[in-house]
Amino acid sequence: MRDPLTVLHDVFGYSAFRGEQAEIVDHLVSGGDALVLMPTGGGKSLCFQVPALVRPGIGVVVSPLIALMQDQVETLRQLGVRASALHSSLPPGESGNIMRAMRAGELDLLYVSPERLLTDGLLDLLDGCKLALFAIDEAHCVSQWGHDFRPEYLQLDVLATRYPGVPRIALTATADGPTRRDIAERLKLQGGRIFVAGFDRPNIRYRIVPKENPKAQLLSFIQREHQNEAGIVYCLSRNKVDTTAEWLRGEGIEALPYHAGLDREVRARNQDRFLKEDGVVMVATIAFGMGIDKPDVRFVAHLDLPKSLEAYYQETGRAGRDGLPSDAWMAYGIQDVGKIQGLIAESDAPERQKQIDRQKLDALLGYCETVRCRRQVLLEYFSDSLPAPCGNCDTCLEPIEAFDGTELARKALSCVYRTGQRFGVGQVIDVLTATETDRVRQLGHDKLSTWGIGRDLAKAEWKSVFRQLVAAGLLIVDTEGHGALHLAPECRDVLRGEREIRLRREAVKKAVRGNGRNG
Ligand code: ADP
Ligand code: ZN
Repeated sequence: MRDPLTVLHDVFGYSAFRGEQAEIVDHLVSGGDALVLMPTGGGKSLCFQVPALVRPGIGVVVSPLIALMQDQVETLRQLGVRASALHSSLPPGESGNIMRAMRAGELDLLYVSPERLLTDGLLDLLDGCKLALFAIDEAHCVSQWGHDFRPEYLQLDVLATRYPGVPRIALTATADGPTRRDIAERLKLQGGRIFVAGFDRPNIRYRIVPKENPKAQLLSFIQREHQNEAGIVYCLSRNKVDTTAEWLRGEGIEALPYHAGLDREVRARNQDRFLKEDGVVMVATIAFGMGIDKPDVRFVAHLDLPKSLEAYYQETGRAGRDGLPSDAWMAYGIQDVGKIQGLIAESDAPERQKQIDRQKLDALLGYCETVRCRRQVLLEYFSDSLPAPCGNCDTCLEPIEAFDGTELARKALSCVYRTGQRFGVGQVIDVLTATETDRVRQLGHDKLSTWGIGRDLAKAEWKSVFRQLVAAGLLIVDTEGHGALHLAPECRDVLRGEREIRLRREAVKKAVRGNGRNG
């Protein structure tokens, strides 16, 4: 056997392995199974290509995308590696040639789609071949937690039972805890080692601000910190993309809209300007960003909550590809939570999917309201880790103090209950702070026992409390009832005084300061 480093030099022309590659390769070469979680661009391919060339026999790579297979096969052939791809769109006769080469032991790497692997007697053919390893690329496709579930992937557990002596490596860039467990279980990889590497983006500074006047907050963020620099602003709806871009232009920022509702030419022109000109801000829905490789994006701003922490990581990851300091900035408020809850509730997805989506939203809210280093929370979600707080996120830079908010929580929850669980946060806060309005008088809310019990807190402080109660799952925002707040069953223990609630103090202070600035 050649040794891995020699293969790396002689075949691929690289001088050293990167990060965990060396350890992963050694593990495979010595016959172990592995689950590898690395972000896109992290260098996953070498993790199976090198051991496939080091070990005798064919390395079989399962991949869901024909274009991806062809790319890799093309690159490998140019390096002199005997590689081929078996899939549904081969020219006639080609598949026969490949299978003959396999029988003759003249192939180093075979790329194959899962459905092709599982049919046409290919497994019978493999039974008679010397096998170096199996690699399962885009392994998140086996999990319903992932965004790309492919039922054929479920049958890949046959590789574990049919070829017990052949090492298997599964690779993915989608690596939150539940997906990871799902992959290991479904592919029967529980005995293997898990490698997680490279998710940290140390040059990105993560910050989340309470949403007060989002457009003004965004403008002030751009003007103070990113004047004339390229950035992406994500909004949930097309309409909001249009109005935000227009408004920013009115304020002298070079902002362009991008969403699927625009003409193809407009989209292409805007994207082109973003890529080629300096200092263009792209205001976009999530339709924008896939495959965009602009190194000097200095900030990614979210005016609405992303769908999940994975989405947040992907979207913010478009900032600072050049390694220079960059910002991930987000404004979020209680209405956003209701909006996403509403989207989940109204979707046609099966109940199981909705349950997954709700859990993902919870993880995202937990991240928004954390009192810990954001980077640590984010990396832990991807099963990666950071030994110490990062010093480059808002909670590190302005440490958050947690305090016993049980009494405040009880007041807030009681007031939601007394007003009949029919009103949004604004009305409930009016009652708590004894703010006399026509609506309060009409509804008789000034006669309630909770009238004015929260006078000692400013409205912005109450907003922060309510946001945290929603994030903690104690309150539910009803989107059909125009953002009406409902008590969740979990409230009972709090109202009975049997559960302590910890709240963020800093969020409250910040909110108050923000209010003062805006007059
Ligand atoms: P992934 O599959 O994780 O998205 P790739 O395997 O395509 O990433 O690798 C991304 C890029 O990094 C490729 O251009 C690859 O050649 C390069 N690369 C990976 N490992 C090394 C290494 N050890 N030394 C130099 N370049 C590397
Ligand atoms: Zn931090």
